[in-house]
Amino acid sequence: AVQFETVVAAVRAHAADNPQAMAFTFGDEVMTFAELDAGSNRAANGLTALGVQAGDRIAYLGKNIHLYFEVLLGALKIGAVMTPVNWRLAVPEVVYVLNDCQAKVLFVGEGFAPLVEQARAAVPRLATVIGIDTSDGAADWTDYRSWRDGFPADDPHREGGTEDDAIQLYTSGTTGHPKGAILTNRSILSSRPSAVAVEDMRPWQVPIPGEVTLLAMPCFHISGTGTGLGTMFAGTGAIVLPEYDPTKALEMIENYPISKIFMVPAAIQIMLNHPRVAEVDFSRLKFITYGASPIPLDLMRAAMDRFGCGFVQMYGMTETSGTIVTLDPEDHVPEGSPKMRSVGKPLPGVEIKIIDSEGNAVPPRVVGEIATRSTKNMKGYWNKPEATTSTIDAEGWLRTGDAGYMDEDGYLYIHDRVKDMIISGGENVYPAEVENAIYSHPKVADVAVIGVPDAKWGEAVKACVVVKPGETLTEAEVIAHSRQHVAGYKCPKSVDFIPALPRNASGKVLRRELRAPYWEGMDRAVN
Ligand code: ATP
Ligand code: MG
Repeated sequence: AVQFETVVAAVRAHAADNPQAMAFTFGDEVMTFAELDAGSNRAANGLTALGVQAGDRIAYLGKNIHLYFEVLLGALKIGAVMTPVNWRLAVPEVVYVLNDCQAKVLFVGEGFAPLVEQARAAVPRLATVIGIDTSDGAADWTDYRSWRDGFPADDPHREGGTEDDAIQLYTSGTTGHPKGAILTNRSILSSRPSAVAVEDMRPWQVPIPGEVTLLAMPCFHISGTGTGLGTMFAGTGAIVLPEYDPTKALEMIENYPISKIFMVPAAIQIMLNHPRVAEVDFSRLKFITYGASPIPLDLMRAAMDRFGCGFVQMYGMTETSGTIVTLDPEDHVPEGSPKMRSVGKPLPGVEIKIIDSEGNAVPPRVVGEIATRSTKNMKGYWNKPEATTSTIDAEGWLRTGDAGYMDEDGYLYIHDRVKDMIISGGENVYPAEVENAIYSHPKVADVAVIGVPDAKWGEAVKACVVVKPGETLTEAEVIAHSRQHVAGYKCPKSVDFIPALPRNASGKVLRRELRAPYWEGMDRAVN
């Protein structure tokens, strides 16, 4: 494979070699590599005219759109840094992120003009707002397409080098305030098919001729932006959905030769429950990649059965530019593979070690915090020197905040966040294991397990259960069911029945919100 130093270099080469190849499709609009290259040159020149310089942040607030990648690439071409903002955030949270990243220019997607109008006065540094396909009354804003067409399509040739900042992505905010992870050109490029030698590639990394990817996850998350970066590097096409919509996703699978999709487990679950899923022909789909939160084994089995393609589990985080560990298709054996409970093995070039609370490496099968080192690691958190030094040590090891262990064969098993671990009567209980047990009850639709204060045990295990519609379930039944699957001390002592679990945009359960009412006024940090 051709090795590229930056995403800009890759796109330039693809535009020269294969100008008419589809880079992105959005609705009925097709953007070729030649158009992506020329459009991003114009955007780069336009940003320069606005006074944007190398190292400056620009931001995008909106749903997924092909033009987001054009702007992102335009920023990279002058060494500026794109920050996609989570559009599900409320006004004060958007204000927080825009002020934190200090964006000078904000691009806004359709439907978000009112939100920006509310936020704008509180973001003094923001000089220019440009509407991408805003047909909702932001008449005083510059319209993106006519704006960029006013600038020459000459390549400015001022892109940053491999160690320069490329993208600033905020973490999902599952455990607290989102933090801006600074990803360099090298970190976003490492382990992409165009950067890995063919002999080191995993089967799902080897490009498929005519490959088309469905980009259905949000671009404010590493999964969405990462997918688009991956296809741009590889010179392959992506069909972009504004947001995850199972009806649309199924329609795209029918209409295009889609070979790869990344979905979070919650999205897979929604697709499986879709009334049309039985009619759709999935035979062109080669791989479903999934990750970002734990997947219940029953769900994985049901998905393998339904979709019949290769499955690849991905483990990673914003701070590691996405995936660092994968469970490959050959380890997805519905019957009897013990590796199914793992998230797999590190990608080439990625080191993983498990450390105790003093930072020392522990032997196989001992649970500790997962630490990782590779060129995929972020440079640091933007404007948060303390958080950076407590996360990355002098040797480049990054603490993930996740608990887990490794087996003798080098497979990694995730045991939740270090912060989510429950210490009950001196025993460590990891919520996911208990959740898996409870989830296997046929009447349970969803479940989260938390620790609540307890005079006798310090913390007691509590299950928050969502019952399937039309079913009834008692606390005693949930506890009895748990006892059949996990040790007594891990079983819930109490059960709350709730209508739905609080989740963030990446489908992650916000256990801190469930914990909060029980810990009010107590000294254990809710986060
Ligand atoms: P914040 O850091 O702001 O609290 P976050 O950690 O949820 O939010 P992300 O970077 O989007 O933000 O998510 C990374 C985390 O997602 C990992 O640290 C891990 O806890 C979880 N995760 C990722 N992949 C998997 C997976 N395959 N299985 C289980 N958990 C996963
Ligand atoms: Mg995190």
